[in-house]
Amino acid sequence: MKLDTKALRYLTNDDWRVLTAVETGSRNHEVVPTSLIGSISGSKGGLQRCISTLAKANLIAKVKNAKSNLHRAKKKDDGYRLTYGGLDYLALHAHQKHATVYSVGNQIGVGKESDIFVVADPAGKQLVLKIHRLGRISFRTVKSNRDYLRKRSSGSWMYMSRLAAVKEFTFMKALAGQGLPVPEAVAQNRHTIVMGLVDAFPLRQISEVPDPARLYAELMEMILRLAGLGLIHGDFNEFNILIKEEKEEEREVPAADRTDAEQQQPQQQQQNPPIKLVPILIDFPQMVSIDHPNADFYFDRDVSCIKRFFERRFHFRSDEPGPHFAEAKAQLRGGDVKRLDVEVEASGFSRKMARELEAYMQDVGVDGDHQDVTNEEEEGGGGGGSVGSGPEELEDEDEDEDALDKTHS
Ligand code: ADP
Ligand code: MG
Repeated sequence: MKLDTKALRYLTNDDWRVLTAVETGSRNHEVVPTSLIGSISGSKGGLQRCISTLAKANLIAKVKNAKSNLHRAKKKDDGYRLTYGGLDYLALHAHQKHATVYSVGNQIGVGKESDIFVVADPAGKQLVLKIHRLGRISFRTVKSNRDYLRKRSSGSWMYMSRLAAVKEFTFMKALAGQGLPVPEAVAQNRHTIVMGLVDAFPLRQISEVPDPARLYAELMEMILRLAGLGLIHGDFNEFNILIKEEKEEEREVPAADRTDAEQQQPQQQQQNPPIKLVPILIDFPQMVSIDHPNADFYFDRDVSCIKRFFERRFHFRSDEPGPHFAEAKAQLRGGDVKRLDVEVEASGFSRKMARELEAYMQDVGVDGDHQDVTNEEEEGGGGGGSVGSGPEELEDEDEDEDALDKTHS
């Protein structure tokens, strides 16, 4: 979904207050009646003008004849709901107020459940804004007839997308704190997170590496390291591993110890320093605890995604079996282990939130990027996760709006 930031500049304080009121009302109301918008926002005059500005910018959408008023529909029972665009604006506005984001640049990724933009902070530093859009995918994939899905209430996608953002942000921070190679977690607001821009391509787009065995070993080590902290990524694959090129650490060799050859070729060495490939892990909404009932399944799937990719792309197959779930879990035996799964529960992403998000993701058929791995012709794409290659079942919001409105007519 596009992020049209034009109107950000001309919205007045009153407009923002009214938009916030629609958001607040949406938490408990499928359709927020105009009178409620008025009372929450405290607007006296000018409410209609604000509403029409917001509706024109597609930040709120009018819903006629709200279901609950079907039999006593009066004109004043019409109401509004917040659109994804409106929620995006509220989040961006908050990031701007906190001076995390100053401007929005190009969209660099569109996934099934997220949009990714390059943004800049007030000092001009480039960052990444990830907007979670759970529930955007086609509801043809819905596997459950739970109430919140049948109604497709805005409360649920807003809340679930926010949960995904909170989860991703909390894990990113916790992992960075343990020195794992992940983007810097900068800020989180509503359904969005702001993180460091990693100047790298996904492994998916890399056709050759100088030393596949080394990279493979590092990735397996990363899976084991996560498990040693009580975690399984759950979507560990070539789409979610960015490969950064770094100069191999320069050796501090005193001049006197250099070989003759080194003495003679200092210039050339500087021009072609050996390059090291550093894998950076991203995309955490599916992370699970190693104590999850299906932990062994997720662990094995993460391992086999990498194995399969290395075989197909680099024709590399490790001599060593595993790593196996049992050995991963064995790391946790004994006393003094750091458990990030436990820590994260205490620091913002509770077990209850985890359960809610997991149930929702299962219900709407969210199952990560590895689906693309199995569904796509190998070697063909190379651009998974980038703009323009989004899966076809994506529906845009207009269609969603029709479907939503239908439930009210
Ligand atoms: P999704 O949940 O939609 O798969 P991801 O977090 O995996 O979202 O991001 C999708 C794509 O956006 C990635 O494959 C990568 O190309 C790009 N991307 C995401 N985060 C960053 C980042 N911090 N730096 C650079 N590129 C990123
Ligand atoms: Mg991804």
